Amino acid sequence: MAEKNFIVVGAGLGGLATALRLAHRGHRVTVLEQTDQVGGRNREVRVNDCVFDGGPTLMMMLDPFNRLFSDVGEKLSDHLSISLCDPNYRVFFPQEGIRNRLDCTSNMALMKRSIEAFANAEDASKYPEFIGRLGEMYRECIPAFVRRNYNSPLDLATPGSAALALKHRMLSNLAKEVERTFTDPALRQLFCLQTMYLGLSPYAAPYVYGVLAYMEYGEGIWYPDGGMIQICRSVARLAEKRGATIRLNTKVTKIKGNSVWLESGETLTADAIICNVDLPYAERELLGEAPKKRRYSCSAYMMYMDYEGEIPELLHHNIVMGSDFFENLDQIFNRSEIPTDPAFYVALSSKTDRTKAPPGHENLYVLVPSPNLDHHFSDADGADLQQKIFRRLAKESSFRPENVRAMKTYSPHDWHEELGLDKGAAFGLSHDFMQSVCFRPANRSKSNPHLFFVGASTTPGNGLPMVLIGAEFVEDRLQKAGHL
Ligand SMILES: Cc1cc2nc3c(=O)[nH]c(=O)nc-3n(C[C@H](O)[C@H](O)[C@H](O)COP(=O)(O)OP(=O)(O)OC[C@H]3O[C@@H](n4cnc5c(N)ncnc54)[C@H](O)[C@@H]3O)c2cc1C
Repeated sequence: MAEKNFIVVGAGLGGLATALRLAHRGHRVTVLEQTDQVGGRNREVRVNDCVFDGGPTLMMMLDPFNRLFSDVGEKLSDHLSISLCDPNYRVFFPQEGIRNRLDCTSNMALMKRSIEAFANAEDASKYPEFIGRLGEMYRECIPAFVRRNYNSPLDLATPGSAALALKHRMLSNLAKEVERTFTDPALRQLFCLQTMYLGLSPYAAPYVYGVLAYMEYGEGIWYPDGGMIQICRSVARLAEKRGATIRLNTKVTKIKGNSVWLESGETLTADAIICNVDLPYAERELLGEAPKKRRYSCSAYMMYMDYEGEIPELLHHNIVMGSDFFENLDQIFNRSEIPTDPAFYVALSSKTDRTKAPPGHENLYVLVPSPNLDHHFSDADGADLQQKIFRRLAKESSFRPENVRAMKTYSPHDWHEELGLDKGAAFGLSHDFMQSVCFRPANRSKSNPHLFFVGASTTPGNGLPMVLIGAEFVEDRLQKAGHL
């Protein structure tokens, strides 16, 4: 096959993985990225001498990572040194005493014992079977539903799909299924909160999303030496080694036919264009299409702090639950309100990797799930959240606000303005059933035969492993369309 010329717009992980796959086949690839670094949502943030994972902090579901490297003749372990985070994370509940904290681990026996001490023997006895069932669903449903490059919703209408859906009760409600298994209210929250990683309420999620809990408890959470950014950097390095060009600070303003227009006035042409810009934004801003009626994930209010001192009560990964999880979710997803008593996630990667903060300091990262821009997020909302987070951290740990030496925040407006995420929806389009699997926006343009999509808002969806699978899909599409 003669050498072809491809343009990838956006250097998020989906764009970089596609660029690597195409460059590995010997084609000419140019990646155009508007910001000054690769990674997109998975970028690096600096505050004084502290270095942060800007977005994703949990490396899970290793198979698509391993597959990308092996498909281009490499081994992941030659490029990324990863280690298991054990415990996965510490969860803080508002109660006092033994009910205040639970360390969650992918060590089944230990987790069972912890559940017994934290909750009760009955729930502990149900835990192995619960994870076992989710594991079986994961092994059967990922290949059957997620790893499928759908041509139309009709692809789903097979007796095999229906049988699997019934067998695993895939479409029943996640929160309700978890409630049927566990009696303890805290455990009920714990085993369905993972849909928040997709920016989706567990009360609106089908049970099949329980596989996210399996990924954590069955397979574990991993951390790449040097931070999550190393995932994108290693993929970018390999793409460049195979001849791809990555142009940073290069904003695309229009895509039409087989050409892209840059903000600088330059025009580039290619055999095919792969757009990694989040899909709804790309359709409106770059393709000039009328906005479509779609549902969006929630947003995330971020705080990145240079903290002087130690906070021994916190682990690398921590989840802090508010007093009323259901109310918290209802405020974010249904009422578009700033949560009264927010649940939030805290990471200190300096606990694992001392190079991420100077001696005597920690890099304190806080992610507060918050409504997308259906709520007009104001400076006062940011100040309100900060105050609530500081107060709660001080209650649960030796955190002291006066030890914060510097802080950067990132609001829903920033996700929109800096990374092109419509409505500031940090996790892209929502993953409700009618925007999942074959119903998610397709990875090829209906009107432009030269244009393909990869990334969180196209198929299969949001999350680093998903966008890597999306890159596999685009390679397959390009091949079927005769471009490879
Ligand atoms: C706060 C947060 C926490 C998360 N945590 C996790 C986690 O723990 N684990 C996990 O697996 N996933 C997590 N995710 C999800 C994960 O980060 C995303 O699914 C993934 O990074 C999206 O990659 P992408 O390929 O869609 O590209 P994106 O990261 O969206 O990158 C798109 C790129 O396109 C560029 N671009 C946009 N417009 C233009 C233009 N006009 N011209 C040129 N370039 C342009 C942007 O600058 C950006 O670099 C998290 C996400 C967020 C926001």
